[in-house]
Amino acid sequence: MPELPEVESLRRILTRSAVGRTIVGARIGKLPLRRRVVPDFGALIAGRTIERISRRAKYLMIELSGDSIILAHLGMSGSLTHRHGGFDAREFDVKHDHLEFALDDASRLVYNDPRRFGMVRLISRDDLAVIAELKGIGPEPLSRDFNADYLAAQARGKKVAIKNLIMDQRIVAGVGNIYASEILFHAGVRPTRRAGRVKRAEIDLIVEFTPKVLRAAIGSGGTTFRSYRDSRGRPGAFSKRLMVYGREDEPCYVCGTPIRNVVVGQRASFYCPKCQR
Ligand SMILES: [Zn+2]
Repeated sequence: MPELPEVESLRRILTRSAVGRTIVGARIGKLPLRRRVVPDFGALIAGRTIERISRRAKYLMIELSGDSIILAHLGMSGSLTHRHGGFDAREFDVKHDHLEFALDDASRLVYNDPRRFGMVRLISRDDLAVIAELKGIGPEPLSRDFNADYLAAQARGKKVAIKNLIMDQRIVAGVGNIYASEILFHAGVRPTRRAGRVKRAEIDLIVEFTPKVLRAAIGSGGTTFRSYRDSRGRPGAFSKRLMVYGREDEPCYVCGTPIRNVVVGQRASFYCPKCQR
């Protein structure tokens, strides 16, 4: 499942290739996504120029001229790729290619989502403050709003596991299973610890390593997933730099102890029993 680094990597790639282009048409596939795409979507966006591509949590926001925004969430398996060539009916897979936008340089943006948990909707700039999808999302982990005083206040008295706390989108935006595991390894904190029992010095380390881990992942184009590919169709390179995630029974890179996998909040959680207390 794409997390913040994957969406941010995609945002940077699309910013370089698609900003400044004008949308000349759209095609909508047959199967519905988590939320049905409105039938006049194509007519509503045709002729609008992509002015900026931004991100909030795991949502990509394609900002168009005329104060319209295409809000996209990749769900579990979605991808958004920028491909050469305009519309070609033979290539459009109505089963999986849910949405295509033709651009004025004879290229197209293709939104593809085999598992259909994703979402694409057109909103106005005024909607940003009120729509349900973005309401209640916590601070961006790369911003100053995510700091040790804030996280310590959020953790105080909580019985929930620290890993679940930092995966809670209301606490901090965009951190999922992979990066929560990695951040806690670097901070030396076991994922199963009760959030309220994590010491202030450890909270400081979690807050210190959160942006470090996320920035390193963004720099590598994210992590490889079963279905995730970046906008140029390449798998992310960060999988080679994962310290614990997906490494059950393999030796810890720091101390050699086999990495353990425990279920926390119904999610596989990897940690080193020696490095993480
Ligand atoms: Zn270790």
